[in-house]
Amino acid sequence: MPKFYITTAIPYVNAKPHIGFAMEAVQTDVIARYRKMRGDSVWLTTGTDENSLKNVLAAEKVGKRTPEFCAENSSAFRDLCDGIGLSYDSFVRTSVDPNHRNVADFLWNACNARGDIYKKKYSGLYCVGCELFYTENELVGGLCPEHGTKPELVEEENYFFRLSRYQDALLKIIEGGEVTIYPDFKKSEVVNFIKSGLEDFSVSRSIKRSHGWGLAVPGDASQIIYVWFDALGTYLTGAGMLSDESRFKKFWPADMHVIGKGILRFHAVYWLAMLRSAGIALPKSIFIHGYVTVDGQKMSKSIGNVVDPAQMLQRYGADPIRYYLMKEISTFQDGDFSESKLKEVINNELVGNMGNFVNRTLMFISSKFDGKLEERELGEGALLMKEVYGLVDSAARLLEQGQLNFAILTILEISSLGNKYFQENEPWKLVKEDPDAAREVLFACANVCRVIGIAIYPYMPSASKTLLSYFNEEPSGFNDAKILAKSFKIDEPKILFSKVE
Ligand SMILES: [Zn+2]
Repeated sequence: MPKFYITTAIPYVNAKPHIGFAMEAVQTDVIARYRKMRGDSVWLTTGTDENSLKNVLAAEKVGKRTPEFCAENSSAFRDLCDGIGLSYDSFVRTSVDPNHRNVADFLWNACNARGDIYKKKYSGLYCVGCELFYTENELVGGLCPEHGTKPELVEEENYFFRLSRYQDALLKIIEGGEVTIYPDFKKSEVVNFIKSGLEDFSVSRSIKRSHGWGLAVPGDASQIIYVWFDALGTYLTGAGMLSDESRFKKFWPADMHVIGKGILRFHAVYWLAMLRSAGIALPKSIFIHGYVTVDGQKMSKSIGNVVDPAQMLQRYGADPIRYYLMKEISTFQDGDFSESKLKEVINNELVGNMGNFVNRTLMFISSKFDGKLEERELGEGALLMKEVYGLVDSAARLLEQGQLNFAILTILEISSLGNKYFQENEPWKLVKEDPDAAREVLFACANVCRVIGIAIYPYMPSASKTLLSYFNEEPSGFNDAKILAKSFKIDEPKILFSKVE
C-alpha cells in the first residue's frame, strides 16, 4: 500500500484561529481523504507552534501565564480541527511534547556536526514596545506597524545557519523538480529568490530577549532556539522521529507540506537546506495557498472583521463551510470569505442544486416505490451515466493536480445534470402512465446520487456518509462510482442540506 504523509503549517497560538487556517485545514483534509480513497496509507500531522516570543507577549497582554495561554489557544485550534473535520493523526504541541524537544535537539546537533551552525553578531531592527525584531518589509514607512515608532538597530551574538553553502544545491533541487512546488508559478518565485543570493540566517535569540521561553540551544543555555529549528521540526516529530521509528521510517519523507504563501521561503529554502545539512530526506512537494480576506478586506482586529470559524461552524455546520472554502476560493489564489455569500452558496448550490436533486430522487423512490428499486438495465439512462462518469474522471484528475476548486465545481455539475434529467423525464407523470419507465428513470437518478455520495467524500464527509448509507455503502474509491448500485434502502430520506436565512 503506498504511503502518503501530509502536514498543515504549524500556526502560532498568539491568537485564536481565523478562517485562513480553517481553509488550510480543509485543503489538507480534502487531499488526505482523496488519497485514502485511492488506497494510500495516510498520515496527517498538524499542531501548534508555541515556543515563540509572540506568544509570551500576547499572554502578558491579557495577564496570563504563557503555558496556560498557549494551552488555551492550542485547544481552540484543536477544537477547530475537530469541528471542521480535519482527519489528523498527530497533533503536536511544541511547548509540551517531549519528543518534539528531542527532535529539535537532534536536528540542531546534526546541522552543527556538519559545521553549518556558527556564532556571530546579529543585528536587527528591534521595537522595544513589541520586543520584536522586524525585517525592513514588515515595517510601515520605516516604522513599527504596531507602535508607529522607529525601531532601534540592536546587536547581539546569536547562532547562524550556513544557508549560503546550499545555494547551488537548492537551485538544483527546485529547478530539477526533486521537490515539486504547487502551483507552478510559485516555483519561479523560489528560483528567483535563490538566484538573488542566499544569506546565512539567525537561528537563536538570547534567553533574555526570549523572556526565557522556548527550547534552549543544545549545550548553550544562554540561547533559545529561534523558530526554524523548532517549528519546522514539528513535521518530523509528527511522523514519529525518535519516538516511533517504524512509523517514521514508513512515512518520512513528507509527501506534501500544505502552507500559506507567506511562509513559502521558509519551507522551500530554509527547511530544505536544514534537512539536507542534517542528512534527512527532503519532502516531495510543497502546496501553497493564498490568503483569505473577509468581505473584501484584509482581516484585522482594528477593522473588526476577524471571522471566528468556531462561530461559523456552529451556525452552518462543517460540510457547508468546507464546501464554501473549497469552491469559492480559488485554490492557489487569494480569496474572500463573506457570510452573506456563504448563505447564498448554501441556498443556491447545496440546497437548491445538489440537495434538491438528491431529495427529489430519494423522496420519489420512498413514496412511489416503497423505498425499493431492483437492480436493472440502465436503458435510456445509460447516456446520462456516461456523462456522469466522465465528470467523475475529470474531478479525480483535477484532485490529482491539486485543483481542488475546479474538482468540486465538476462534482456540482453532476447534480446539475441529474436535475436536468429528472426534469426532462417527468417521472411524476410517467409513474401513472408507465410505472416501469418511471422506475428506469429513478434507477438512473439513484445511481447519480450514489456517484455524488462518493465524489463529495473528500469535501463533505458527513453528507457523503449519509448519502451512501442509502446504498449500504461506505465511501470508497472514485472508481467504484462506475459500478451500478445493487441495493437500496430508502425509508425516510434525511434532508441533506438545510436552507439558511
Ligand atoms: Zn512596536
